[in-house]
Amino acid sequence: MLPTIPIDLRSDTVTRPSPDMRRAMADAVVGDDVFMEDPTLNALQRRAAEVFDREAALFVPSGSMGNLTCVLAQTRPGQEVICETNGHVYNYEMGALSAVGGVLPRVVDGENGLLSWEVIAKAIRPKVYYRPQTALICLENTVNMAGGTVLPTSRAKDICDRAHAQGIHVHLDGARVFNAATYLNERVADMTRPFDSVQFCLSKGLGAPVGSMIVGTRDFIEHCRSIRKMLGGGMRQAGVLAAAGLVALEHGPKRLQDDHDNAKVLANRLADIEGVTLDPQSVQTNIIIFSLKDSGVSSAELLQRLAERKVLAVPVDGERIRMVTHLDVTRQDVEAAADVVRSAMMR
Ligand SMILES: *Cc1c(COP(=O)(O)O)cnc(C)c1O
Repeated sequence: MLPTIPIDLRSDTVTRPSPDMRRAMADAVVGDDVFMEDPTLNALQRRAAEVFDREAALFVPSGSMGNLTCVLAQTRPGQEVICETNGHVYNYEMGALSAVGGVLPRVVDGENGLLSWEVIAKAIRPKVYYRPQTALICLENTVNMAGGTVLPTSRAKDICDRAHAQGIHVHLDGARVFNAATYLNERVADMTRPFDSVQFCLSKGLGAPVGSMIVGTRDFIEHCRSIRKMLGGGMRQAGVLAAAGLVALEHGPKRLQDDHDNAKVLANRLADIEGVTLDPQSVQTNIIIFSLKDSGVSSAELLQRLAERKVLAVPVDGERIRMVTHLDVTRQDVEAAADVVRSAMMR
């Protein structure tokens, strides 16, 4: 089989809807979702709630809106949200926490992007009336900018239990929580039960063109429905998107192991290349971050050379590059991509 051209490893968001998904979209029965009358969207929301063993779920146009909605629902302006230094909510959502929510992000360093209660506890504000109060902790699983690392379920539960004991809520940015579930061989419902709110993306490895879901209690989701409307996220015949989401939710998770296997193959081959620093053992899911430090080549320079050879990836910083496997790249593609990196490093 010939490689896909270009081989696009920039993100798992680049996946395009499959023929089956497009057919489901074309055939979707739809209605006005602001009136809550879209049968396909209602079915997706019921199904997501069921998969996560929750009372209710809500479809949102993006993961960013899902995270912001959950933050707004659980904080007041002037309160603090604890998040990790490399976290998506802090770095890649246009400062919406403070710009829209009026909350202070309190950023702390995790290990490989993963927080522990020990680290979080030091950042929690004393309950003194003239200090800002910690309202929410935001965790991420998998951790995108730490190379797709997985949060162990016992650690998540420990953080949630201790936070709840102090009246602090915990939100999970589970953009790739199904990748984490695949790695852990656990059910997402069991992994995410202790969280007050969860956001997950349909539009990444699961393969839908658009959309994320948030899940929680019925009251919480009704509150989020109002916030989503305030943010401009009330949609009308969104069943055409929900139809794709239903296919993604049913069939997407089963094939994520293929992406992880391809990431391993790619990581092993990249690690063999002179000038590339990468521990293939550290690659747990579908994201690889490798370094070019000491190679004399910057990430911008290598990305330019790769693009000329029809392999696409993104920079993390001046010396690190991220590659992501997904359903639109094959085993042959990742093997070819590794060969291209090898030749590009030589010039
Ligand atoms: C992609 C992503 C999101 C949401 O992104 P959108 O592009 O807004 O859908 C949130 N968190 C993480 C960790 C992500 O990788």
